[in-house]
Formats: sequence, structure tokens, C-alpha cells
Amino acid sequence: MLEIIENEKESNRKKPPKHIADFDLKERKKFAEELGLPGFRADQVSRHWFGQLSDNFDEWTDLPAGERQKIAELLTPKLINELKVQKADGGNTVKTLWKLHDGLLIESVLMHYPNRTTICISSQAGCGMGCPFCATGQGGLKRNLSTAEIVAQVQAGARYAAQGLLPEGPTRLSNIVFMGMGEPMANFNAVVGTIHRIHDESPAGLGISARNITVSTVGLVPRINDLAALGLPVRLAVSLHAPTDELRDTLVPINERYPIKQVLDASWKYAETSGRRVSIEYAMIKSMNDQVIHAKQLANLLRGKDVHVNLIPLNPTPGSKWTASEPEDEKTFVEILEQSDIAVTVRDTRGREIDGACGQLAASEV
Ligand code: SF4
Repeated sequence: MLEIIENEKESNRKKPPKHIADFDLKERKKFAEELGLPGFRADQVSRHWFGQLSDNFDEWTDLPAGERQKIAELLTPKLINELKVQKADGGNTVKTLWKLHDGLLIESVLMHYPNRTTICISSQAGCGMGCPFCATGQGGLKRNLSTAEIVAQVQAGARYAAQGLLPEGPTRLSNIVFMGMGEPMANFNAVVGTIHRIHDESPAGLGISARNITVSTVGLVPRINDLAALGLPVRLAVSLHAPTDELRDTLVPINERYPIKQVLDASWKYAETSGRRVSIEYAMIKSMNDQVIHAKQLANLLRGKDVHVNLIPLNPTPGSKWTASEPEDEKTFVEILEQSDIAVTVRDTRGREIDGACGQLAASEV
């Protein structure tokens, strides 16, 4: 399994069609020319798709009316098709199930807070990391998403927010988190391409600050180092979930390849290079990793580091033995970390009422 992940090897599925969001501005011109279009069409379409967040070619009035549809189909083929939308928190949380060109399903979740609007996006269809408590992990990896398939989720969320469909009216998408389906670092090149498309100024990209992007990982150490080498100020979120290798081997199987010390050493190096505080994600699983001893072990690992711990009450998957911690255990866990001067928050589990754990919405449709 691990070799497959490292080589980013995919199944024999047909690749998704190419789209301007797969390329930077210069490459887009070449892409248009190879399709028999004048190079400047790429720039015009980019201004609509990235600048105005429009995927409706009827609005692209600077293009010849008779050619708009053809140009749109060539340069911006529809890569993600809305299959189901579920809302919660009075419409402030919007979870969308998308169907890809080959029938695979992914999801994204848009969350509006008083001070920000965040989208959580998928980087793979399925996931090959096999974490036993996770619905997505149970289905295995179907394939990596292309850059444009990931960017399209962000563009759709930004459009939804800009169109005033959230309860507070028109707002700007401000934060992007790679915490949907998949392990982002196992689809490294597409994720890096997406980061560029998100933070490049319009018409090259969406013009959202790289500082507002968070990339999560279960700890693919070489890729953490590769990301650090790019010098982008994105935040790294490490899904630790356990404070000892013995326990983590059972919860996050990739730990057998990259044990905790290696993962944390790479994370501290990343923090130093990027100037960004690292987030440690820790799913609170009842009687498994949520006891006093675990909190003390975690505090020993993190004491004195510039780190923020996010405790995530586990969303139980139906029929699974894994379930969320008791509130008293959660409270004690927080207290022990705080006593060691470690910044900690219990993550608000937005969308819990509309479906369970990460990947469960997609899993329930197939
Ligand atoms: S928890 Fe994350 S890394 Fe683990 S299987 Fe699920 S999606 Fe993959």
C-alpha cells in the first residue's frame, strides 16, 4: 500500500479533462492554442472564471456569442457536478457532494463564521491511508484528483459565498483547509498547483492569501520537507491522533513508516522555515487515546513548542466500534495540556448533524 501512495500511482481510470485551472497563466495560453483557439482567449476566460467566479458562459459577453459555449467547454469543462447539498447550522454550513467525470464522488464543506468563511476541500477520491476510525479510509484510494478538480471546489465555494447564498449575505471566501477526503501530501503536485491557483492574483488565480491555507497530513515526512522547501507560508496541520508509536501504529497505519519523532521533527523544521505555528490534530476516541496518561504523554511531546492542538470529537461512523470521548475525559485532557502551557481548542464539529465523519456523505451514496 505504501509504495502505491509514494508513487502517486493511480488506477487505470480515464484522466479528467484538462481545464485552465490546471495551468498557470503562461501555460494556459499554450493550452488554448493547442486546442485551436487564439491564446488571448485563455486570459479572457480566466478573468471570468477566476476573477468574476463565473462558470456561466452566457455572462462572458466579451467573447463572440456564437463561440462562447465551445470556448467554455474546451477551456473550462465541467469537472465537478453537484449531486447533493446538505445544510446545517441555519445555512452557515453547506456540505456538497460532487460527482466527477468518471462517476466518483467527493465532498466539500463551506462553513461561515462571524469572522471568516472557510471551505474544507477534498484532494483525493477516497484515501489510501487506512485509518480504521475513518469512513473514507475504509473505502481505500480511488484516485488522485487533478489540480483543476480541487480548484473547482474552491471556486464553487467562493461563488456560493459571493452570490449571497450564506445567511449573512454576500461574503468573501477567506480560508481554505485541505481536510476533506484524502491525504493531501499523497497528491503533492496537484495540491501545490492548487495552492498557487488559490493565492495567485486574478486572473491567474483567486487571490486568497497563502497564509489562510492549511494543508493537513498524517505525516508523510518527505513531503512535509518538500512543502517547506517551496517557501509558501501555508499552515501545516499534522493529524497525530496518538502520543506513542505503539498506539499510533494502530490508529494511523502510516506511522509504521514515519514514526512520531520523525513526523514531529519535520513539523518543527517546517514551522521554522515557514514562520507558521504548526497545528496538531487529535481525534478524541473514547477509551482509546483520550485518557489522562495520553494527555500527559502528548504534553511531553509538545511542551515548549510553538504549536496549537485541535482536539476533534470523533464523528462516529455507523456500525463502528470507534466513538467520541466522554465530555469529562475531553475536559480533563484539555486541562492537562493547558497546565503545560500548550494552546488547545476543542474543534467545533460543524456539520455534524448533516452527516458523520469525513467521507461519510460520499460513502453513503455509493
Ligand atoms: S483520517 Fe484522513 S488520512 Fe486517515 S484514512 Fe481518513 S481521510 Fe485518510
